[in-house]
Amino acid sequence: MPASVRIREVGPRDGFQNEPKAIATADKVRLIELLGGTGLRRIEVTSFVRPDLVPQLADAEQVLAAARLPAGVAVSVLVPNQRGLERALRQRSRFHAVNGFVSASETHNRQNSGRSVGDSLAGLERTFARGRAETLRCEGVIATAFGCPYEGRVPIERVLAIGRRLVVMGASEVAFGDTTGMANPLQVTELFAAARAALPGVELTAHFHNTRGQGLANVLAALQCGVASFESSFGELGGCPVPVGATGNIATEDLVSMLHEMRIETGIDLGALIEAARAAQQTIGRRLGSHLLSAGPVRWSAELA
Ligand code: ZN
Repeated sequence: MPASVRIREVGPRDGFQNEPKAIATADKVRLIELLGGTGLRRIEVTSFVRPDLVPQLADAEQVLAAARLPAGVAVSVLVPNQRGLERALRQRSRFHAVNGFVSASETHNRQNSGRSVGDSLAGLERTFARGRAETLRCEGVIATAFGCPYEGRVPIERVLAIGRRLVVMGASEVAFGDTTGMANPLQVTELFAAARAALPGVELTAHFHNTRGQGLANVLAALQCGVASFESSFGELGGCPVPVGATGNIATEDLVSMLHEMRIETGIDLGALIEAARAAQQTIGRRLGSHLLSAGPVRWSAELA
């Protein structure tokens, strides 16, 4: 297993975009800055999607302009296409990486982006070319990589074929997203073992949702395949919070707690991270799913004394 892992906090994007009530821009900026003080080295701050499609992130420009983060934090933005990237590029100095996404399943891609996987990949090719010309680091995200709510099983070969295309386009990193929480640890082992062989030298990232409570089990399976890069959301934000009790991304603080207890380094201050999640819970005004928010960190007897 890796001695240390990199964590990208995606709550300000994957989390905030799924909240039924819009969060005020100033609150978003305050929460992002709290995250920036936890030792996190990667934060996805927003997404430049069409404001009429995702009104929760209509303030992408303002958030990117206002959030003050320490120099060591790699700031990334998600973009659906080149038009989104052009919007972000008006503030080129404010971010370091661009994430472009495509679904592994045709139906999910059409539902999510209104076009075929092939058309999405062609668009991403142009987007990444533009990003690379701006010396941005490019990350490709493959949604529904572990299963699709419409199509069910997604063949590993199909996921890896998309991964190869993303790398040819210039992606330094490929993230495999369990968008609707269908992955199990056995499947995670199979996919990442195959991905390591198929995509040598590429940073492989696991993006798990805890929809069915299997998020951290899936993290363990990924760690055992040597995966050292994860995406997660503070408070367990993300996913659709309807029905009540539905969970989102794995909670960053739950992930960090487990890793630290396993003596795997993250560089993150768990106490500060829990405070950031608590602030998000207060702002959003409903109880969030994170276990650490309820239970607090593990304390061993030496620390209790
Ligand atoms: Zn997600």
